[in-house]
Amino acid sequence: MTEYKRVKCINCGEENPRKLHEEQDKNQVLYYSMQGTPVYKYKMKCGSCGTKFDKA
Ligand SMILES: [Zn+2]
Repeated sequence: MTEYKRVKCINCGEENPRKLHEEQDKNQVLYYSMQGTPVYKYKMKCGSCGTKFDKA
């Protein structure tokens, strides 16, 4: 059984996955790859109200 994680906007309560987009947060580097490329933390962005929030 696969677990489906429902993401919900913390501001407006949008739950439609087509309106919630993953976005790299360029202020938060998680680590650097062996090529020296920064790997950023991902945040969710709500397409309805524009709020960015952490994934649960
Ligand atoms: Zn929202």
